[in-house]
Amino acid sequence: MTLPLFNATPLQALPVKKARPYQDRTLTQLRALVAQGKRRILVVAPTGAGKAFVIASIIKAATLPVLSVAHRKEIIDHIVKQMAQQGISNVGVIRGNDDRWNPSASVQVGSVATLARRDRPFLGQPIILIIDEAHRANSSSYVSLLQEYPDAIVLGFTATPVRLDGRPLGGDQLFEELLIMARYEELLRNPDWLVAPDCFSGRERADLSRVHVAGADFDETELGQVMHSDRLEGDIVQHWLNRAHLHPVFKNGIRVPKQFTEGGRRRTVLFAVNIAHSQSLAARFARAGVRVAHLDGNTPEHERDAMFRGLETGELEMICNCQVAVEGVDVPAIKCVIHACPTMSITKHRQSVGRSMRPWTGIVPLYLDHAGNFDRLGCPFEDLAWSLTERPKRFGSRPPMKMCKACFAYVEPQKTLCPFCGAEFTREEKRAPQESPEILHERNTEPEAMKWAFFWRQVVMAKSKGFKPGFAAAIFREHYGNWPPKHWSEKIKNDFNGDQLWQDTLARRLERKAVREARERQEQAAMGEKSPEEIALEETRETWAIGMETRENRLLEKQLEGTAAAIESVEGEWSEEPIEERAENEDLPPEEPPAAESPFADWLESEDIR
Ligand SMILES: [Zn+2]
Repeated sequence: MTLPLFNATPLQALPVKKARPYQDRTLTQLRALVAQGKRRILVVAPTGAGKAFVIASIIKAATLPVLSVAHRKEIIDHIVKQMAQQGISNVGVIRGNDDRWNPSASVQVGSVATLARRDRPFLGQPIILIIDEAHRANSSSYVSLLQEYPDAIVLGFTATPVRLDGRPLGGDQLFEELLIMARYEELLRNPDWLVAPDCFSGRERADLSRVHVAGADFDETELGQVMHSDRLEGDIVQHWLNRAHLHPVFKNGIRVPKQFTEGGRRRTVLFAVNIAHSQSLAARFARAGVRVAHLDGNTPEHERDAMFRGLETGELEMICNCQVAVEGVDVPAIKCVIHACPTMSITKHRQSVGRSMRPWTGIVPLYLDHAGNFDRLGCPFEDLAWSLTERPKRFGSRPPMKMCKACFAYVEPQKTLCPFCGAEFTREEKRAPQESPEILHERNTEPEAMKWAFFWRQVVMAKSKGFKPGFAAAIFREHYGNWPPKHWSEKIKNDFNGDQLWQDTLARRLERKAVREARERQEQAAMGEKSPEEIALEETRETWAIGMETRENRLLEKQLEGTAAAIESVEGEWSEEPIEERAENEDLPPEEPPAAESPFADWLESEDIR
């Protein structure tokens, strides 16, 4: 039995999309893992990486019955659509009174809530069980579903492989293997795949010091009281009016500070704390002449669909909501996300900002964070080291993004000029730690002995690499936000001076550095002319008449001479160390998958996978 909807000619005639290289790679890696006997695999794919396409490809190639489960209508519709595009029409949908109900189909796409109330398909058979938005897989409805299919191959998909309370997703009941489909670094390199938003903090900050934590996140009632204020809401409206119509100008691929063209205002989704907060903000925007709608869990399905269609066509400019428009919304026209809702959930943060990152008509997305989420949870498109057994960590020692004090933009740590307003970062700002105040505070309450142990590890590292004594103090400051006690630095200075081994290492390193610099000078002279990047940088410096060293800067420079030199000399060495690459290789399966022994081994063997 097939469904007439998917046999209709226009859908059959749709061109079959070709898999992107990382999607192909993921399918190959999945095959290898299943051949190795892995049964519960969690695939991590940033929002917008095209996981629905990969899920549809798996279903197309599967030789076992498939049950694909999600918790929202939007996700179910999206997967059914992707399958139709790949020519899979024999599909049943198990959700409420959905008219695509088709119990005889070998592929079933279901809502987890409906499945809990009905007879489940394929019981007692080996199947492939796909769980979308699998960061919810520890909830009771999913756990009982997993128990009903003890022999299933379970494939979970998520952008953030952590539970909503931040804990990892490994363990007996859940996943045993983590597979990274793609990292942001790879996806952002191709503007046809993902586009990073420009990120700005609000001017006004909410004081959350009296807001309690309830469960895994801030207490919603208290949060609503704090965030629902004239000062904060007014700032949000003004910020959007100031920025939503400005589109950055690039010259030779480099953004020219402060240069913008004016154009249509970005289609926007605003995330508020609760219904009253969302309605209040929607009313403010409406008074400012913005075409805006409010959406919440009580909005009927057809109205909600109409709102997103309106946003797509431009009839609407903004939808205000509270956590309704997060998962499964696939409207690439959304080019601005406003956060008015502080959260402690890395999943909520990344899911919502990810809505704006799909490419659409070359518009650079915008993220206006009026909730302190960027500071609290980090850059929403920074790759993290995910794990099934530990909380996610940042990679290596890469410094986080910093905020421009003039325009509140979040800026790459190595930038010396703000690409948004042209302000120059002071030497202090260039090197000051950019960790959130909470993290710095937490570190600073560590006992003295732990701080000394950290400091001493840097001393040992400095000695072994031939770095100067100031290195340890500089790293300490990066980590804790302030300098170590003076007598510590004095103490290790003598220690360094008496160390012949260190002096030899230092001499050799300086020699290597001199040779490298001489070679670079030669190469530059041979090239004869400046790179487009250098020309652009010089032009922008002239434009903003920056580059003059102030007296304060010179004084500060002198003061920091020792540590700055140490940092500078180690930066060169560090950049040669491929931290990310190494971590990525760890995720790759062995080149030759071991011989297939399990009854499931051939479920994904079909060559016809794209
Ligand atoms: Zn700026």
